[in-house]
Amino acid sequence: MKSYLFTPGPTPVPERVMLRMAAPIIHHREKAFETIFEEVREGLRYLFQTEQEVLTLTSSGTGAMEAAITNLFSKGDEVLVVRAGKFGERWGELAKVWGISPVYLDFPWGEPADPARIAEHLTTQPSIKGVLIQASETSTGVMHPIREIAEITSKRNDVVLVVDGITSVGVFEMPMDAWGIDVVITGSQKALMLPPGLAFISLSEKAWKMVNSSTSRHYYFDLKKHLAAAKRNQTPYTPAITLILGLHEVLTMLKTEGLQNVFARHHRLAEATREAVKAMGLSLFAKSSPSDALTTVLVPKGVDGLALKKTFLNLYGITVAGGQEQIKGRVIRIAHLGYFDQLDMFQVIAGLEMSLYKLGFPVELGSGLKVLEEKLA
Ligand SMILES: *Cc1c(COP(=O)(O)O)cnc(C)c1O
Repeated sequence: MKSYLFTPGPTPVPERVMLRMAAPIIHHREKAFETIFEEVREGLRYLFQTEQEVLTLTSSGTGAMEAAITNLFSKGDEVLVVRAGKFGERWGELAKVWGISPVYLDFPWGEPADPARIAEHLTTQPSIKGVLIQASETSTGVMHPIREIAEITSKRNDVVLVVDGITSVGVFEMPMDAWGIDVVITGSQKALMLPPGLAFISLSEKAWKMVNSSTSRHYYFDLKKHLAAAKRNQTPYTPAITLILGLHEVLTMLKTEGLQNVFARHHRLAEATREAVKAMGLSLFAKSSPSDALTTVLVPKGVDGLALKKTFLNLYGITVAGGQEQIKGRVIRIAHLGYFDQLDMFQVIAGLEMSLYKLGFPVELGSGLKVLEEKLA
């Protein structure tokens, strides 16, 4: 049986990227590396739609989230944490560990944040120095209105908007400079089609000013050190050289396809999948504003969500993600981000139809597949 990976991270790695990473290791203090890294830096600026430096860290995505917290804020600072899923919670946990006080702004799981409520908080609590949020909350499959929120924060000199873009960079439009976002973060194993191990972070001028006045301490994730090294096409410590070779290949692929086409492809696959799921008589977990990175499907009444996930894997070799924490067993999450194309969606929708059928749910076989064909043909 073949294996099919449909999780919103890690995601499948293209063959040409795997081949590139099979090349012999080179030394990172040599010219050969610097030439590649210079092109990588340029490719990352294109991807983030920024003129700022995009720093490459050796860690999973959470490392860049922690770097944002420790570099921007100082002990005792207050930050507004938008909490509408598991990754929103992570911002709060990270802040607390470093002695930074999270002020929580909660929205129900499955719903997007309301920018007006954020504006309200910033007015009534002028001590807040940052707004921490996800662009795409991967635990619920909902997209937050980053553009509208950036309109609010960019008018203030003393507040930065920090966006965990781990399932949005390379998925949908979120131009960092044009929208006035202060910090954008992503990781390698999502839309960047690479194995886990790299995290990326870019900061606006306003954010760098805050970094320069922070009294917080750090060593490995000292972003000022990373910035200085990057300007020389270097990293302060040994980078994940092999992953950077793969990244070089990925950035070439994205540039060749064109960012707008990359976004359109994700949207098309996500939209077709959402319609297919509804045609099968199922509902989406996202009440509105579904992310194009993944589709979160409510497990229908009478079906055991954990059994559904197991059936997918055991009978069809398909790995999908389940629900986390309060929605464990209640949803399955199907990824569209990264190296997916039209026919891939037929595998996962066929898997969903057959798994539900096997579990005794009265699904009409072919009902989802038919809609996929209609949408994609
Ligand atoms: C995957 C993910 C993370 C965590 O990234 P790791 O690479 O597991 O550290 C954080 N935020 C979002 C929105 C994610 O999807």
